[in-house]
Amino acid sequence: MGWLWVGLGLLLGAGAVHVIWWRRCAHLRREYATARARWEALHAQLAEEAQTRLTAMLHSLSEGILLLDPQQRVMLANPAFRLLFQPAVSPEGQSLLTVTRWHELGQMVTQLAPEEPALTRELLWAGPPERWLRVSAAALFHPDGRRLNTILVFHDVTRIKQLERIRQEFVANVSHELRTPLSHIKGYVETLLSGAATDPALQQRCLQTIARNANRLELLIEDLLTLAQLESGQVALQLQAVSLPEFVDKMIQEFRPRAAARAVTLEQTVPPLLVRADPLRLEQVLANLLDNAIKYGRQGGHVRVSARLRGADQVEVAVADDGPGLPPEACERVFERFYRVDKARSREQGGTGLGLAIVKHIVQRHGGKVWVESRLGQGATFYFTLAAMQETASADPGLSSSVASGVNAGQQD
Ligand code: ADP
Repeated sequence: MGWLWVGLGLLLGAGAVHVIWWRRCAHLRREYATARARWEALHAQLAEEAQTRLTAMLHSLSEGILLLDPQQRVMLANPAFRLLFQPAVSPEGQSLLTVTRWHELGQMVTQLAPEEPALTRELLWAGPPERWLRVSAAALFHPDGRRLNTILVFHDVTRIKQLERIRQEFVANVSHELRTPLSHIKGYVETLLSGAATDPALQQRCLQTIARNANRLELLIEDLLTLAQLESGQVALQLQAVSLPEFVDKMIQEFRPRAAARAVTLEQTVPPLLVRADPLRLEQVLANLLDNAIKYGRQGGHVRVSARLRGADQVEVAVADDGPGLPPEACERVFERFYRVDKARSREQGGTGLGLAIVKHIVQRHGGKVWVESRLGQGATFYFTLAAMQETASADPGLSSSVASGVNAGQQD
């Protein structure tokens, strides 16, 4: 009987141990499952964060990025790439040629090899629009030589190329412009030195030509320096309130002798407006426009300076002549450096071809616009805008009040 109880006790004990053990195992399994789920969630979160960071980085790059799989099909294309190439189909899964239709690029990618896994070239993409692209291509290779992924980076260098071309043209133009008066000076100096010009009248003519060409060189260098200063942004404008009618009056008085030499009548119809400008720079603008209007306008013709208020805060100034005017294509280009409609006429008049480029820079530095309207045979009108001033503390008090009423009168027109 005693043994029975002992056996029962042992059985019960074993059962209890088993239940405790089973419970413990179930608890451990649950803990493991929770830990594993937490770990998986963390892993997924980290992967998502890394993906978000990569996507954000690729989206923010101004360079176009293309990632190719081992079969050279597109795996990834960033927004800059899509903007650059504007592919007709969604790039992912397509071949490089389908997406870019650019054989030269395909050849470049094919050239990548384990011994030369990266290449950079500047290629002209036909567009539209046509663009110069600096393309860097790099491929990953398996140790057995198989190509894995390829990455292509596209950097748009069209603007850099354009600037380089403009710079080269400018240097060529400057050299040409400098060489012309210099060769005249040299020629006449040699004539005088050789003693060939024995006639005093001829000697005088030689010296006059030398002086004229030396002046031309001086003018050219002055204009080039002004332009360089303006373009570098180093010129600090001394802005102040300027009374436009008085300013124009003063300029017209200065230009009367020059106009009289061509029997040109100078007129002004400028209402009492006050503008915000640097007087020295404004003088350069008006001087260039008046000089051109007299030079290229009609002999015995009229040149008129007028102004009006545009909106509430701008003044538009116009310099009009009744000369031969400009053809439409020239109206687009006259503000370019060294652009001339009639090269011979400009040189004969002592022009440097830089006057209107200087005008454009000065007006733009003032925050204004400059343009020309013209029809062949019907004169030309050059316009520019400046900031209007209603009342300023710095303005001459006497001027200010009369000008303020002028501005209001202008607004009612
Ligand atoms: P330039 O020193 O030759 O006068 P500008 O830059 O002042 O240089 O002018 C550029 C060109 O624009 C001139 O060579 C001339 O052909 C043309 N041009 C300028 N003003 C006028 C005008 N009022 N009428 C006709 N052509 C003009």
